[in-house]
Amino acid sequence: MNYEHRGGRLCVEEVELAEVAEACGTPVYVYSAGMIRERYREYAAAFAGMPHRICYAVKANSNLAVLALLAKEGAGFDIVSGGELFRVLRAGGDAAKVVFSGVGKSVGDIRYAIEAGVDNFNCESFAEIEVLDRVAGEMGATAQVALRVNPDVNPVTHEYISTGMRENKFGVDMSIVEKAYAHAAACRNLRVTGVSCHIGSQMLDPAPMVEAVERLVALAARLQAMGMPIAHLDLGGGLGVKYQRSEETPSIGAAIGALRRVVEGTGLAVMVEPGRSIVAEAGVLLARVLYRKNNGGKEFTIVDAAMNDLLRPALYKAFHEVKPVVASGAAEIETDIVGPVCESGDWLAKGRVLPAPTSGEVIALMTAGAYGFGMASNYNSRGRAAEVLVDGASYRVVRERETWDDLVRGESVA
Ligand SMILES: *Cc1c(COP(=O)(O)O)cnc(C)c1O
Repeated sequence: MNYEHRGGRLCVEEVELAEVAEACGTPVYVYSAGMIRERYREYAAAFAGMPHRICYAVKANSNLAVLALLAKEGAGFDIVSGGELFRVLRAGGDAAKVVFSGVGKSVGDIRYAIEAGVDNFNCESFAEIEVLDRVAGEMGATAQVALRVNPDVNPVTHEYISTGMRENKFGVDMSIVEKAYAHAAACRNLRVTGVSCHIGSQMLDPAPMVEAVERLVALAARLQAMGMPIAHLDLGGGLGVKYQRSEETPSIGAAIGALRRVVEGTGLAVMVEPGRSIVAEAGVLLARVLYRKNNGGKEFTIVDAAMNDLLRPALYKAFHEVKPVVASGAAEIETDIVGPVCESGDWLAKGRVLPAPTSGEVIALMTAGAYGFGMASNYNSRGRAAEVLVDGASYRVVRERETWDDLVRGESVA
């Protein structure tokens, strides 16, 4: 299953994207339910025969319809805020399969998570351990805890999505991790159950993850020898996807196969927290061409989507392939694809060779299902785009386009 041109028209499953753009307007995010299920099932198959849980990282794409279809597949969820837990529960997800990650959990969010019956907390500091113990005690509850370890492994990815090196804010430093575990184990209202890590995102090579898991396995053995009931390893997320043809990514099966070989035989259960690798390729952002212009010999194609809709190019210089939704056969030109926002950083694609786009035509920014809508904002007072879920031959709007009234909701004049 994939996005492909059939008879010159870009399709996913049995739906033509030109039809979605016509019916729902632009800019619009489109997600393929079938592709999301396929990726989830690849993870499930790769872990077959081994105790495991796949906790989808909600922040990658938190639309309720996406969460609901993953919940139906049996997924657990990795959350980083109370708001994400609220979404998971609203979508029919099971709190008993939720792990709460994040470096800065608020007391309110911790209380909500304990109340909802979240399975496990991945703690990142001594200070957080103390707060979690206190809040659990006040609620007469016992919280299950894994510490997120910073294994000091270089994930070889963009510096903003590298999280497992010593200088990053994430995790507990390896040199003090046993002390932190001893501290957590001595807390009356905590039960230490696992070891977790998440070293980065968009990793194209699983080797750094294998190295991190080897360090986790060794640590788990040391902690067990100290008498701690360590029963699971949480390997985090981070598998990369193919944003451009030159990138080589391991299949989910191959990457998970390499990781499970490290854990097999230890008797530990495995948890993973994949986000991008489940939803990125399943989504596209459709935009309509407004104008073309030439400045100093440079061609610009101005479209109705902008950095407020898809921030990744502005934030990480990320590459998204651009495809015409209907092949025009026009002669090719080289052009930047830019949005209407008043910032020079507002570009979506640079120096692309495409059949000359014409005003009114719809283009697709590919591989936009992860960290696309979730990072959207209302900058320049632009309503956020609609979201559409394709499933087989049908599609439906799963989030309406924001209106001007939505823009000012909650605001008032003096
Ligand atoms: C963001 C995040 C993930 C998901 O990362 P992907 O690269 O999207 O797979 C998993 N775990 C934690 C703790 C995260 O912060």
